[in-house]
Amino acid sequence: MDIFDDNKPNITPISSFGEFKLIDRLTNDIKTFNPSTILGIGDDCAVIKSDKCLKLISADMLVEGVHFDLAYTPLKHLGYKAITVNISDICAMNGIPKQVTVSIAVSNRFSVEALDELYSGIKLACEKYKVDFVGGDTTSSTSGMVISVSIFGEVEKKKITYRSGAKPNDLLVVTGDLGGAYFGLQILQREKEIFNENPTIQPDLSGYDYALQRQLKPEPPTKYQKILSELKIIPTSMIDISDGLSSEALHISKSSNVGVCLHEDKIPVDHTVMNMASEFNLNPIAFALSGGEDYELLFTINQKDYEKLKKDPDFTIVGYVTDISEGNNFIASDGSSHKLTSQGWDSTK
Ligand code: ADP
Ligand code: MG
Repeated sequence: MDIFDDNKPNITPISSFGEFKLIDRLTNDIKTFNPSTILGIGDDCAVIKSDKCLKLISADMLVEGVHFDLAYTPLKHLGYKAITVNISDICAMNGIPKQVTVSIAVSNRFSVEALDELYSGIKLACEKYKVDFVGGDTTSSTSGMVISVSIFGEVEKKKITYRSGAKPNDLLVVTGDLGGAYFGLQILQREKEIFNENPTIQPDLSGYDYALQRQLKPEPPTKYQKILSELKIIPTSMIDISDGLSSEALHISKSSNVGVCLHEDKIPVDHTVMNMASEFNLNPIAFALSGGEDYELLFTINQKDYEKLKKDPDFTIVGYVTDISEGNNFIASDGSSHKLTSQGWDSTK
């Protein structure tokens, strides 16, 4: 082929595609061959048939400079987070994590002691959540560090929760509170900038413990899953909140073929995060909606389960499910209705 030929095939820059559009483009023609593959791409985990239960598989990758900045991320915390964010995907299917594999690519910038630190965090999370660390791969990288984790879990057939089971009139529920992880990141980035301008200034992280813990050492939502089980509630659909409430609500809408309606004044935000938001002059709800990395659960329940759940402060009803014809809506605190978008809401509609 003449490289100077003007009739080159079209080249589409990746930047013109969002992450989800790209995944869809690459995977929408993938067929499965084995009847044991109950669900492939499209949910928090793939689902594989086995004798007594269903097996769950999920993978997540953390890339230096994209997902973490070693200027303010201790390697032990990073290792811990690499495991807990994967456990979160198993929780989203209502499953129990069982095994992980961890693959790393590292440049010679890192010492053996640095990798010891990373692994101490990985082992700590595995120990805490009783997950067996069963393998992986190690390779070199020309720059930076990449950590790729695959997780395997199990769920009873009758307990599995897909993104696709929400029905009109179901209630939309979130666990814990949102926006904290994003604010933790804001603090760390602010302190990094101050340090870069004047390295003699020590970082001042006092008073921000909650948000920093949410960013640096997130725990998976296993405790909420246990409470749901004790309350004998099986959500009709569920997803973990890794990218922000609005984006996850839209995933449920798309997979379940329904509309969702979120109420701004119901979205749970921790009081320390509220205070930080006013300090930064930012809207905490915007970050609950689009900040991400909170690793809480968003799920839907049939209204008959409302009585069982309503007194538990771990859960907040943030909206409800509608017919698909009603679209995805965001009701602002002043009562005005807007179109829900993956980045929050559209104030013009
Ligand atoms: P999550 O936010 O829960 O980690 P993702 O948005 O990363 O989920 O992925 C959505 C779905 O697409 C999942 O089923 C995942 O397994 C699949 N997926 C993501 N990236 C790829 C890829 N490069 N090739 C094949 N499947 C992918
Ligand atoms: Mg997920």
